[in-house]
Amino acid sequence: LVSRKKKPEDTVIEINGEKFGDGNQHFIFGPCAVESYEQVAEVASAIKSQGLNLIRGGAFKPRTSPYDFQGLGFEGLEILKKVSEEYGLAVVSEIVNPAHIEEAVNYIDVIQIGARNMQNFELLKAAGETNKPVLLKRGMSATVSDFINAAEYINSKGNGQIILCERGIRTYETATRNTLDITAVPILKQETHLPVMVDVTHSTGRRDLLLPAAKAALAIGADGVMAEVHPDPAVALSDAAQQMDIPTFNNFMKELLNK
Ligand code: PEP
Ligand code: MN
Repeated sequence: LVSRKKKPEDTVIEINGEKFGDGNQHFIFGPCAVESYEQVAEVASAIKSQGLNLIRGGAFKPRTSPYDFQGLGFEGLEILKKVSEEYGLAVVSEIVNPAHIEEAVNYIDVIQIGARNMQNFELLKAAGETNKPVLLKRGMSATVSDFINAAEYINSKGNGQIILCERGIRTYETATRNTLDITAVPILKQETHLPVMVDVTHSTGRRDLLLPAAKAALAIGADGVMAEVHPDPAVALSDAAQQMDIPTFNNFMKELLNK
């Protein structure tokens, strides 16, 4: 169903006035994790000032260590909903448990499925049974073919509103957190009709590489870029080393759009 052979024209997914897949560039920013109302509101205000329409933030965090901050859960989704209504933004947030999907769709506009859950087939099917757009991230050890099959799982349940997100894969290289597989973007665009985003935060894991990676993503044909923004990254409860603070974010947008 997601194959370009089956449907030659691009799928366009409308979210809060933005049309992902329409040939324009789209942006999703926000903190790694929802930590407080004030934290999310500060980022929302910066996003709004840039004229953007979406915010991301994790309420259910799939952390490598069980002792790290796991997210605020539904309380985090409530914060996102409140802030999104105040600022007129659509919410993108990761859901990790198929049993949470039914309730979560009351709070969020886009269901994010994270790299660690790209082949959680029950979660894919549950997202496929909703009518919400799904942002599907590539698994860190997934081939392009595995990735496309994961999208197919969602579409097979009736939901074709899928945005693919390249977020880096695990290789022998240790200079970056993951290896951004930049050519996956045109391959996915050729092989599927779905919009393709690039997450520059989790792929690089390095603040100094966010801008060049974002430029590369747009140059190679990505439909947009995702990155993490936090009012004070040094005290962030997750991904402190790679989130942008607000002045850095404003400069990132200026440089990226050549303003
Ligand atoms: C995220 O975007 O919050 C995240 C955890 O990313 P990934 O699933 O790509 O690691
Ligand atoms: Mn993160």
